[in-house]
Amino acid sequence: MNIQIIKNKRRKKSISIEVISSDAVRLRVPYRTGQNEINAVLSKYEDWIKDRMSSMSPRELVIKKHGGTWHIPFQGTSQLLEFRYTARKYDRIIVDNNRLIYETSKDSSIITIHDIKKQIKKTYRSYLLTIITPVAKQLSDMLQSSYESINIKNTRSIWGSCRNSKYLTFNIALACVPPDVLHYVVVHEVCHLIYPHHKQSFWRCVERFDPNYSEHRQWLRSHNYLVTVFNN
Ligand SMILES: [Zn+2]
Repeated sequence: MNIQIIKNKRRKKSISIEVISSDAVRLRVPYRTGQNEINAVLSKYEDWIKDRMSSMSPRELVIKKHGGTWHIPFQGTSQLLEFRYTARKYDRIIVDNNRLIYETSKDSSIITIHDIKKQIKKTYRSYLLTIITPVAKQLSDMLQSSYESINIKNTRSIWGSCRNSKYLTFNIALACVPPDVLHYVVVHEVCHLIYPHHKQSFWRCVERFDPNYSEHRQWLRSHNYLVTVFNN
């Protein structure tokens, strides 16, 4: 880790820490701050620094071609895309026992990232509806609440939303997160049906259905780049 120390004569007491890359941190400290004091601050904020750094780390879960094989983020891992010939005119990607299979009548070598994104969005939309719908129904019943609709969208900046305490929307990129993290996002949005804020009462509701919610929030924070995996 690269540590930059900026000593400032005008600074009286406070120390500020800024993570500036996946491998570098910048500290602004009062002029006379000693190394021991700096080390103490670094160790005190170690977890926070690591978290910020990992959120800035190079993308791992992305759609990419590697050694002639397509890698697709799905359920928190990178899956190899299999190809299967079909006589049908249109292409599609199916989920078969958690494997992703691209069915096409074309030669698989001419399939582009554009084709894959187009197909995978359709596949992930129906996959997420299948997973989310029964869970949202069950949780909202337990809260003696209800909602108008569930939508899967390429929301671009957020994982999910609950509009007017009625309309639930989930980011299509949630197909790429581990199932327990997806469950947490559903719990989060369903709890907003009752609590349209992030006060303590809301988090108690979340905890009731997901005792490990802070771990799952952490996962999302450190994989924030996934939110936009289907943009463009
Ligand atoms: Zn929220």
